[in-house]
Amino acid sequence: MELQAIYQTLGVSPEVFAYGEAALERLRDRFADIDRTAEYNQAKVLRAMQQNRVNATHFAATTGYGYDDEGRDNLERVYAAVFHTEAALVRPQITCGTHALAVALSANLLPGDELLSPVGAPYDTLEEVIGIRPSKCSLREYGVTYQQADLLPGGGFDYEAIRSRINERTKLITIQRSKGYATRPSFSVAGIGELIAFCKSVKPDVKVMVDNCYGEFVETREPSDLGADMVVGSLIKNPGGGLAPIGGYICGTKECVERCAYRLSAPGLGQEVGANLGLMPAFYQGLFLAPTVTAGALKGAVFAANLYEGLGFACVPNAAEERHDIIQAVTLGSREAMLAFCRGIQAAAPVDSYVTPEPWAMPGYDSEVVMAAGAFVQGSSIELSADGPIRPPYAVYFQGGLTWQHAKLGILMSLQKLAEAGLAKLPE
Ligand SMILES: *Cc1c(COP(=O)(O)O)cnc(C)c1O
Repeated sequence: MELQAIYQTLGVSPEVFAYGEAALERLRDRFADIDRTAEYNQAKVLRAMQQNRVNATHFAATTGYGYDDEGRDNLERVYAAVFHTEAALVRPQITCGTHALAVALSANLLPGDELLSPVGAPYDTLEEVIGIRPSKCSLREYGVTYQQADLLPGGGFDYEAIRSRINERTKLITIQRSKGYATRPSFSVAGIGELIAFCKSVKPDVKVMVDNCYGEFVETREPSDLGADMVVGSLIKNPGGGLAPIGGYICGTKECVERCAYRLSAPGLGQEVGANLGLMPAFYQGLFLAPTVTAGALKGAVFAANLYEGLGFACVPNAAEERHDIIQAVTLGSREAMLAFCRGIQAAAPVDSYVTPEPWAMPGYDSEVVMAAGAFVQGSSIELSADGPIRPPYAVYFQGGLTWQHAKLGILMSLQKLAEAGLAKLPE
């Protein structure tokens, strides 16, 4: 009862709290599975740190050129050990996930080469990187062409279409693990492994890059365990564990990663330069926390799907489905319901809890977007956040939560706001 009382001081009514507790009762086995995955991944990260003899000297700040930055170099060895790759590039100079992906693509594609996405359209921000939407400095401007094989209506891989689009110029294949803000399913690591094997059976020397954003540590294996030449992601998502304030990573073969380093800094300089600016403690400790932080976010996503599906709202993935990333889409059906949901997430935040999210026109979107985020790191989406374009079917995309307990509060508050506005009816 004390627990319910403190929730009440935060704005959660006894009815909403009780509805949440009833849903939780049914999730014990799911949560136990998530904890086991976290335990495995925690061990994997610890082993990588122990093997590489992480010690206090690795936390020292460097400035300027950053020559002989042992903390930085060792962090890259730790990442390579976690992802089971030959090499890794993990840098604060990689400003975000899109930047990491742009570096990986532009470093490994030359004029005349072709890029293929066998999983339909890539993430919004990559459209300008590739040149699907014309942009300055796009791959297309540099003479790199692009092809895409769409998914089958049911979300499966269209192997015949993929085979027909692989040609003598196909140099790199890009696979996005998470659905991002699309409605297709996210892919399991096993599924990605099958797709990689198929592509390499058609063309053995083709390289495969996986956009790993939001997928890290959701399963015990990563796409690099199943043949990906590069896995790429953002440190203000899963692998930064909420502590990294900036950064991106590219793990992969020596050949691919070396090219990425040359592209990121300069030909000839590569990984030798790039001061760590005092960020090593956050990068190491964030990686250490990442498996359990990801588990907390996953529990939040599963809890949200169970709560909302029980009230008649469609959820992707649904309440029972296996998870391959931390994103939860909830179809709320109206503008008002989207705003109420986001007000609840915002009200539950440790930072900026008192502000009201308002929809606004964002560059690159054809409708208004509403966002709720009260994060320690601005824009961090491993922290509890929700957003969505205000248009039919009026779905919010919800993700993150540095602790399961905070994710739970956020979801309960979102439901509270919907219930108060008469937009969701709790069962009697
Ligand atoms: C977030 C994300 C990106 C881009 O990352 P930013 O850090 O926002 O630039 C790319 N792909 C996927 C699947 C993502 O989720």
